[in-house]
Parts: sequence; C-alpha cells; structure tokens
Amino acid sequence: MFSSSYMTTAVMIAMVAAICVLIQKFFKKYLESDQYYYLKDITLIGAWALCGIWMPDGPLRITVAAGVAAACIGFCQKATKGRYLRFSYFLVGLVFSLFGPRIAFIEFSGGEYYYLSYFASVVISTLWVGLFPIFFQEIDEIPGLCGLLLTVSWTMISVVILSSSQSLRDASQICIIGLVFLLVFWSRHIYAYRRLTEPLTALWGTLFAGLSILGVSKGITFYTLALLPLGFFALPLTETSMGIISAALSPKPTGNLILYRKLITRGFTHPIAIYLVVTVCAITGCLVSAIQIGMPDFLYLIAAVAGVFALIWTIYTFKYKRPKMNEACRNPRLWGVTVDNISLNYALIKVQHWIENERLPHIIVTPDALAALRSRTDGDYSRIVKNAGLVLPDGAGLIGALKLIGTPIQERIPGVEFTEHLCKRAACEGWRVWMLGGAPGVAEAAAAKLAEKFPGLVIAGVCDGYFKEEETENVCSAIRAAKTDILFAGLGVPKQEYWLDKHLESCGAVVGMGIGGSMDVISGRLTRAPKGWQRCGMEWLYRVIQEPWRWKRLKKLPLFVWYLLLTYLHIDSYKNDDISVEK
Ligand code: UDP
Repeated sequence: MFSSSYMTTAVMIAMVAAICVLIQKFFKKYLESDQYYYLKDITLIGAWALCGIWMPDGPLRITVAAGVAAACIGFCQKATKGRYLRFSYFLVGLVFSLFGPRIAFIEFSGGEYYYLSYFASVVISTLWVGLFPIFFQEIDEIPGLCGLLLTVSWTMISVVILSSSQSLRDASQICIIGLVFLLVFWSRHIYAYRRLTEPLTALWGTLFAGLSILGVSKGITFYTLALLPLGFFALPLTETSMGIISAALSPKPTGNLILYRKLITRGFTHPIAIYLVVTVCAITGCLVSAIQIGMPDFLYLIAAVAGVFALIWTIYTFKYKRPKMNEACRNPRLWGVTVDNISLNYALIKVQHWIENERLPHIIVTPDALAALRSRTDGDYSRIVKNAGLVLPDGAGLIGALKLIGTPIQERIPGVEFTEHLCKRAACEGWRVWMLGGAPGVAEAAAAKLAEKFPGLVIAGVCDGYFKEEETENVCSAIRAAKTDILFAGLGVPKQEYWLDKHLESCGAVVGMGIGGSMDVISGRLTRAPKGWQRCGMEWLYRVIQEPWRWKRLKKLPLFVWYLLLTYLHIDSYKNDDISVEK
C-alpha cells in the first residue's frame, strides 16, 4: 500500500521507474522502432495505472484512472484514426467531475470567491478535463512540440505546487510521479522530432487538467493552478482556436500553430522553431503566474528572467553561432551525396509544407552506396542530388560508410517506407498521387495495393516505365491534367532522377520521388527482405537472391570500398565542387 510517508512514496516510484527502465533496455534490441515506442507507451500508461492503484486517496485514484481511461481511448483513436472518438474525452471528464475533484469555486484577484452551483461545477470541470487531451492532440501535429511543452509546463506547475505554502499532498504526489516518468521516458517526450501520438496526448492532457483541479479540494483555489496552464498555453490555445474558426469559416484556412509555421517558412530549423515556441509559452506562463501570485514572489521573477535569457540565447545561437562543424552532422556527406540527417517525421513535415504552402517542385532521392559512387563521376547525377529537396539515407552501405567517416545519421529512412508514409499522409490530407514506372501492370498493382492499405488515397493515375521518348510529353500532360501532388517515379537509378529533373516541372507535381525497385515491392511482384535481414543491412543480398541478374551491379562494390578507405584515411583526391544549395 502507498503509505502516507513521502519515503514510502519515493521507494514505490523508484521501483516502478526501475522496472520501466529495465523493460526499455531489455526490449530495445528486439523490437522495431514502431513496436518499441508502442511498448514504451504501454509501459508508461501501465506504470501510471500501478501508481494509481497504490494511491490511498480517492481524488488521486480518480485522476490517474481518468488519465489511463483517456489513454485507452487514445489507442482506439490511433487504431481507427477516428476523430469522432475525441468526444469520448468529455465522457472521461464527466466521470471525473462526478466522482473526483471539481472546480467548485473561482477566486477573483481581490480575494473574493464565487461558488459555482453543482451543475455549473460539473459542466465546467467536464469541459476542462475533456478539452485538454484534444488540445494536446492539436499541438501534437508538430513533432516534438507537445512533448516539450508538456515537460516544461509540468515542471513549472510542479514548482508552483511543491513550493506552495499550502498543504498540497495529493497534487505534489502526482507532480513527482509525473516528473519521474518524464525523466524515465525522456526520449518519448523531450525529442524534437517525435510526436507523442494519441494515447500519450490523452494520458498527459487528462492528467494535466486533473492536476490543476486537484488542489481545489485541499484549499488552493482553482484560480491559481488554472492560470498557469492558461498562461503557459495561451499562445497555442489562441492559435488552435483561430485555426478551428478559420477552418470553419474561411475558404483559405490559416491552419494550426501559426507561429511555428511562420518560423519554418522564415528558414528556422524545426528544433529551433519548437524551442522558440516553447520559450514564448514559458515566458507567458511565468508572467501570468507572476502577476497572479504577486511580483514579490522571487521564483517567478527568476523564471521570467531565465525565460528571456533563453529566448535571447536561442535567437543568438540561431543567428550567429551556427558552428561549421555541426553542418557535417546535420548534412553528412559522402562524395557528391549530401544526406539530410533528419527523422522520418520531419521529412514528412517538410513535404507537407511544400505541398500545402510552397507548391514548388521538389525532388526526393534515396541514395545507396552505388548512388554515392556514381556521384563521383556523374556530374549530372551529383548536381540533381545536390539540388534535391530531400536526400534520404536508404542503403545500408551508405549509412555504414557515413558512420565510418564520423558523421552517422540519426535514422535510416528506406525509400519503400517513406513512400508508404507519404501515401498514408496523402490519404489523410487528400493529396493526389501518381505512380510512374515498372513493367506494364506493376504501377497499377502498386497503386491498388496502396489504395487498399490507405483508404481514401487518391490515385491520380498510373503509367508503366517503358514508354517511348516521344510519348514523354503525353505522359507529362496526363500527370499535369490529373493535378498530381506527388509523383512516384520507379525507373531505376539514375534514370528516374534524370527524368524527374527534366520533367517534374512540366508535370505540375510538387513532389517527385525516385523510388526505384520499391514499386515492385509495393506491387507484390518482389518481396521485401524480412526484418532480420534489414537489421543486418543485408536487404541488398535478399534482392539479389530474388533477381540474380543484379550480381552484375555488385561488381562496383569493391571500388566503393576502396574509395571509402581513401576517404577514411583523408587521402582521397575527390574534390566536391561546392554548388551552394538552398533547401
Ligand atoms: N524501370 C522502368 N523503366 C526503365 C528502367 C527500369 O520502369 O526504363 C523499372 C524497372 O522495371 C524496375 C524499376 O525501374 O521496376 C527499378 O529498376 P532497378 O531495379 O534497376 O532500380 P533500383 O531499384 O536499383 O534503383
């Protein structure tokens, strides 16, 4: 049982935290990243549930139970992609306010209280608890933003509660447990490129809302604990409301999280943009709390000053202190191939920005070791890669080589997986997709498979990859007439890159991605290597086994290894002509 002493609480939390760490360490080796993050989410929710069971007081149990119930709804939402399930959070809010703590009164700055009727109290508490998960989900559209905002706001509200002169044992316990879990699952929350996804936004949103009400029953007014979240989330709350209103009323909606998008369009990198948004939120949170609690409270003054310094530091870092050596880590380079060292989510965000805001043609290439080798001698190919909007590291050989020369990439993004993710996003956003390439029938089969896998995907058209040169104009016109947003070209390397470079603009598509043999894999003509082969970097061998004629291409591998060795030893004579590229 959770004893009333803080010592027992600490021991219990330490035990749960240790188990969570062990689970993560043990399973990391065996699971794919998607599965691993699912496991992490389930472990975190389970850990909260365990703490809830151990808690002695009703209000605490109800708060944690509401969080866990909301997380379960989040899982259903994730599985069904049903936005309508969002309304279930109000049901959780209703149960919470009927059986748990409620917003029963509001304090005005003069120290006056306004007591709410039972009905009004239930309605306001239901809305408060039900809205937070939905609001968190809106913020979570930008990878990394929700996790960072949550971490900072949770820390800030913990500081208020733990430093409060009133006895807030319930709220303090939840605060501490939350802080420990944020630390134990830090990579799930404090990572600039990762979304929390529906279950965690629901869990934390409900817990956060519940936490800010918890103090009410113990004397602290709702006013104090509600103002901090309201102040902290003032910016995203305003932007989300504006986004919803403009989506409902305007023919050209402004979209959500305007400040973030503005920063991105002004050239800020994704991490800097989200740090800036979080800093602005932290400053508004501090200022609002400082005004409410009173300026003599030093904690807030210090926090506000720290916030301002953080802002100046971030701007300074971005403007003047972008160290040259980081450039190599941000964009690792092997000969003529400069790879974008970004996560899959960030790559998707970039594509979304091109399609929804910019609408200029961009090529995506997914080079492997042989493509890097080609870039040494093939000036055209090298130029296309340099000017490409995204260069995603696909081949295991290239990734291994980059690691060897000291610029490892953060995440492998195989072309076939990125194609599927793009189609998944396209199905949600209504982007129109054209499949070009492969033997007759392959593009149709691939399109059918994708449409089946991602209901709602609009296939603008298909065309095989063996049309005659003189038919090119017709193909381009057809692609343009179909108002294609994304053109997948599976013509093999380097033909597809040359083709996209020459014709993407006349096709009118925003994105042209060379997908090589992925078309065959998606269509089912070839099978993708099992996970074990992929993990060992042996996908190429599996392909060679399926298509033995590919052995011929591997003749060039020793040359790749030779040049890599020269590069590693810094005695390679290859000179990269520095074409500056604006991405
Ligand atoms: N392909 C094509 N037109 C061509 C040459 C190739 O459509 O003129 C198709 C081919 O049918 C195959 C795909 O391009 O489906 C990939 O070819 P390859 O395996 O040579 O490319 P890689 O995957 O190695 O880049």
